[in-house]
Amino acid sequence: MDILKTKADMQAWSAAKKKQGKTISFVPTMGYLHKGHVSLLEIGKPLSDELVLSIFVNPTQFGPNEDLDAYPSNIQNDLDLAQQAGVTAVFLPDKNEMYGPDYQTHVSLDHLPQYLCGRSRPVHFGGVATVVTKLFNIVMPDVAIFGKKDFQQLAVIRQMVEDLDFNIRIIGGEIIREKDGLAMSSRNAYLTPEQRASAVCLSQAIRLLKQKVAQGIRSVPDLIREAEAFILSFDHTRVDYIELCDPKTLEPVETVQAETLVAMAVQVGKSRLIDNALIELA
Ligand code: AMP
Repeated sequence: MDILKTKADMQAWSAAKKKQGKTISFVPTMGYLHKGHVSLLEIGKPLSDELVLSIFVNPTQFGPNEDLDAYPSNIQNDLDLAQQAGVTAVFLPDKNEMYGPDYQTHVSLDHLPQYLCGRSRPVHFGGVATVVTKLFNIVMPDVAIFGKKDFQQLAVIRQMVEDLDFNIRIIGGEIIREKDGLAMSSRNAYLTPEQRASAVCLSQAIRLLKQKVAQGIRSVPDLIREAEAFILSFDHTRVDYIELCDPKTLEPVETVQAETLVAMAVQVGKSRLIDNALIELA
């Protein structure tokens, strides 16, 4: 497994592989890998000759009062997991390598970032779109795999790839969960045991919403009220948002549609946790 720390080395590595006729799968991450990340590597592995993982905690996708400085890291463990998953190269740049002092170009989208997480994280998706554009130009993959856990991020990347004509196939990987339903996340590491117990509220609220829809409830305001009361019945919780929306445009809906995305962000202690699921009417 090669470890590349500069953009020039990564580009040269990918260019050499391409010259040999090899294809490249790519999984971008911020590190502190868990089984969710590994599942994306497992999707990418059989799709191409080479499998590239990037680990970069991208400062431009964090707002001023977010957890950039506290973001967990364990590079050695990440490299061990990458090796086990058959990664052939890890791109591990530092901040100065990615953004020089004269950096001034940003990728932004008009609509998708206005919904869901974009409301409370106004700079987030511009930061994501910009860094993923850079990573695509550096790694030059044929296929890139992103988790549905970050559903809005996946929508933003798909839109950006279409709009900017990247010749890269985008694949969405299913959400990997703990046994009790909590979606795996690097940010779960911040939870105290008490908060960890409360963190199941997100997946349980989704289950509750699915049950209510199955019982015939279609009014979104009624459904959101139920889910909010349920989540607030757990200690240490504060609801950032609970929304039901169109899975393509992310626009909120007033009544449950044939295909509706339920998405939520809940602050549990210091961790802002997200979860989502598609509700499909039979
Ligand atoms: P992150 O390191 O949090 O930026 O995540 C890197 C990639 O892993 C993103 O595409 C995430 O959507 C994905 N990911 C994170 N958690 C999970 C999970 N529990 N299941 C599946 N994919 C995930």
